[in-house]
Amino acid sequence: MAFKDLSLIDPILKALAEEGYTNPTPIQQKSIPLVLEGRDLLGCAQTGTGKTAAFAIPIIQLLAQQKQRKRGIKTLILTPTRELAIQIDESFAAYGRFTDIRHTVIFGGVSQLHQTKALQRGVDVLVATPGRLLDLINQKFIDLRQLETFVLDEADRMLDMGFIHDVKKIIALLPKKRQTLFFSATMPAEIQKLADSLLTRPATVEV
Ligand code: AMP
Repeated sequence: MAFKDLSLIDPILKALAEEGYTNPTPIQQKSIPLVLEGRDLLGCAQTGTGKTAAFAIPIIQLLAQQKQRKRGIKTLILTPTRELAIQIDESFAAYGRFTDIRHTVIFGGVSQLHQTKALQRGVDVLVATPGRLLDLINQKFIDLRQLETFVLDEADRMLDMGFIHDVKKIIALLPKKRQTLFFSATMPAEIQKLADSLLTRPATVEV
């Protein structure tokens, strides 16, 4: 199967060609059509499987196809580490380079000034680690009322790193009507319970 068999728009196909991607990985083949249909997703996948593009590509397409895009954050991606956050943001930059999608990334351990300036310019997609996100929400730099899609990346690592309480606090602030994509390499009981509480009739994708 090729990317062009997944009903992707030309600006994305062009960006993927420039990245040197020829064919979608198994998780991309399964996830991209489901996300484009608006389904909730439970993805059991490790890093290295092409998981990031599996959610980033259809999210970019859904946003790019919105004729009159409202101002405000429409996609939130929560990930446990700064390194992952930067990688995910770079993926949105790469796959969305021929679209008008705006994205930014926030994480702790650095000054917030540069991050809040980017937020004030306006973004469609926000990639964040939990602590800094809560911090900036509390300071009223972030409004999640326009949110349409929520991605929880590496849920099991959120638990291992002690972020699960922050993650639950953030989830409580999100609009109830939304698309949720939930990724975890393993499914311990607490993570399964969280997935059950967040997802509506999810499609399950395992690789
Ligand atoms: P990830 O699992 O999202 O961390 O991706 C692992 C690596 O695979 C990243 O360096 C991606 O740039 C690369 N990658 C993702 N999808 C493809 C693809 N369809 N073809 C070639 N490389 C890919």
